[in-house]
Amino acid sequence: MKIEQELLIRSDSKCELCGAAEGLAVYEVPPESNGSSDECILVCASCSEQVVFPWSLVYIPPSKPSCLQAS
Ligand SMILES: [Zn+2]
Repeated sequence: MKIEQELLIRSDSKCELCGAAEGLAVYEVPPESNGSSDECILVCASCSEQVVFPWSLVYIPPSKPSCLQAS
């Protein structure tokens, strides 16, 4: 079975971070991915833009600290 299909089943066809059902994409978790679904995660486009590597399941707060808004 393809990884995408495994992830869709595992996640009930929803983003594993926010539960969105559209714009889903498979992300491989580096650096030791061997191609199994255990090292992959299904995320939506919105979440994928917020996920910053190196990989960690850290939720980015919606508002940035004021010290990061200077630029
Ligand atoms: Zn999401």
